[in-house]
Amino acid sequence: MRIDIITIFPDYFTPLELSLIGKARRSGLLDVRLHDLRSWTYDRHNTVDDSPYGGGPGMVMKPEPWGEALDAVSAAVPAASPRLILPTPSGLPFTQADAGRLAGEPWLVFACGRYEGIDSRVAADAALRMPVEEISIGDYVLNGGESATLVMVEAISRLLPGVLGNADSVAQDSFAPGLMDNLVEGPVYTKPPAWRGQEVPPVLLSGNHGAVDRWRRDEALRKTARNRPELLDRLDPERLDRRDREV
Ligand code: SAM
Repeated sequence: MRIDIITIFPDYFTPLELSLIGKARRSGLLDVRLHDLRSWTYDRHNTVDDSPYGGGPGMVMKPEPWGEALDAVSAAVPAASPRLILPTPSGLPFTQADAGRLAGEPWLVFACGRYEGIDSRVAADAALRMPVEEISIGDYVLNGGESATLVMVEAISRLLPGVLGNADSVAQDSFAPGLMDNLVEGPVYTKPPAWRGQEVPPVLLSGNHGAVDRWRRDEALRKTARNRPELLDRLDPERLDRRDREV
């Protein structure tokens, strides 16, 4: 998968050199390219923002550098066009299902806004040439799209085949399609079996895989009910067994 990121702070993305994503990049599974938006400015101050029409506080990112940047980046691969992701608090909420869907795309471009956001004509203009999605990572406001992009790139790229050592762990994670649809994961434990007066639940030491699976599902249902009760209404009734309903 190829990911292009356009930003005024390319250094923000050094974490993408680390850990599993860094390894995926070095092994060629993931091709991440960073672009400084200011390379598409031509004035002495490399200006990317201006005051908002209609007045009000803050600044808005100018359309010209963004238009040129997106033209150049999206023309990098002949006969292909990327999907453009615009992180914004006013976008559709990002979910695990989106991460899975976007992991199936060959090429994504992320456009990191700053200030009060990017002039709205940029998205409309880009949509004439490529699919465009406005996505929010949560109901709060960040200073810029860089950290939102880091979140999405990590959630997407860990789903690419070969990026995680154990592909099964993805299927058992919170929100994973299938087994964990609309569920969060319950508690997890490792050695030692007793620590500071707390014992690991005996079923996990029993070697009975059926009982362990049942316990994990019960705990996932309980934790979802405690922390994310709104998700319970979205559980597929067809997939619930009698024991699920009792939990
Ligand atoms: N004025 C905008 C609003 O109220 O919707 C907020 C702009 S914010 C200060 C600057 C940039 O941060 C946005 O253009 C966007 O790229 C990014 N951003 C902030 N919060 C975000 C969120 N929850 N999800 C995704 N991107 C976000």
